[in-house]
Amino acid sequence: MHLSEHFPLADHHTFHVEANSRYWLEYTSIRDLHDFFNTTEYKDSPRLPIGSGSNLLFDGDYPGVLLHSSIVGSTVIRESDDAVWVRVGSGTLWDDFVETAVASGWYGAENLSGIPGEVGAAAVQNIGAYGAEVGQLIDKVEAYCIPDAQLQCIDQKECRYGYRQSRFKSDWMHQYVVCAVVFKLSKIPHLNLSYADLENAVGTGRSISLNGLRKAILKIRNAKLPDTNQMGNAGSFFMNPIVDQARYEWIKDRYPEVKSWIQSDGRVKLAAGWLIEQAGWKGRQLGRAGVHEQQALVLVNLGGATSKEILDLSARIQEDVQSKFEVVLQPEVQIVNGFL
Ligand SMILES: Cc1cc2nc3c(=O)[nH]c(=O)nc-3n(C[C@H](O)[C@H](O)[C@H](O)COP(=O)(O)OP(=O)(O)OC[C@H]3O[C@@H](n4cnc5c(N)ncnc54)[C@H](O)[C@@H]3O)c2cc1C
Repeated sequence: MHLSEHFPLADHHTFHVEANSRYWLEYTSIRDLHDFFNTTEYKDSPRLPIGSGSNLLFDGDYPGVLLHSSIVGSTVIRESDDAVWVRVGSGTLWDDFVETAVASGWYGAENLSGIPGEVGAAAVQNIGAYGAEVGQLIDKVEAYCIPDAQLQCIDQKECRYGYRQSRFKSDWMHQYVVCAVVFKLSKIPHLNLSYADLENAVGTGRSISLNGLRKAILKIRNAKLPDTNQMGNAGSFFMNPIVDQARYEWIKDRYPEVKSWIQSDGRVKLAAGWLIEQAGWKGRQLGRAGVHEQQALVLVNLGGATSKEILDLSARIQEDVQSKFEVVLQPEVQIVNGFL
């Protein structure tokens, strides 16, 4: 366990906004977590697990302890004729794990290639892309339960995964620190090319290998999304809003080209990037914060932006989308301030 004080955060979150954390704890084992949560010294400080900070925006200095996992690496713990179960440390980079899975001929994670961040956060966020979500691949989550002061092995079903949702983000918020995740991947060749972008990239009717699909996805992502080292950002700033039929019909009457996906419960998910573009924000800037020229859903730090500049921009976008479509955009990015 290693505890640092007055820890600079600009290189530990992908918006690269200047901020400090009062403390930064690097934990390498469950024992470290146990010891930390049993000391009285930091009991009243805010405490927050952090991965690569690719879904966070620090709004000012963090007055408490940020907990970062150095539990890394993966081990096959079980194997059958058609599947493999792999335990992966929460501090492992998500895309390193996908690379390992693809190189080993394990199917399931390839559509999630190139998503930034670490394995622990992936299980909290239920990361998703190109028609896949990580929750579908998770067998169990091994997490330290702060109230019970012990490690718990949580079944996938109990995590209640939904669109960018899990119980770690709702009723279990602030109760668990993820230490490892057990994934169940398939040994049976099967690729998911249902997403339109992928079909176009691969070419309808053409076959592609597991590694070929990973490479195609990495190529699409690199062409679409700004490199966080060159232009700070946290991917999609807002979630795609889900609206009822009446609101959808109202929008569709006026904008027949609206980008949307019907949900199993009859509601309709709208493309937040399309709404932002229609509200006139694509490519615009406010101070040193801007909306990316190719991806209206991605807010960027154009260089030296403060969190206030980024939050002012996001508030203006929310207002304009609401007044044009009567749809409320909710941030996907977690805004971190002293109250967390
Ligand atoms: C360029 C770019 C592209 C992106 N593309 C996608 C995409 O296609 N799909 C997608 O779903 N997301 C995408 N994201 C968002 C982001 O990559 C994911 O949300 C990712 O899971 C965040 O991982 P992280 O390690 O950076 O977590 P952080 O941002 O550090 O934390 C995210 C949340 O997880 C919690 N957390 C982190 N580690 C732990 C732990 N060990 N235990 C308990 N809680 C923990 C944090 O408290 C926080 O609430 C993108 C981001 C960027 C910058």
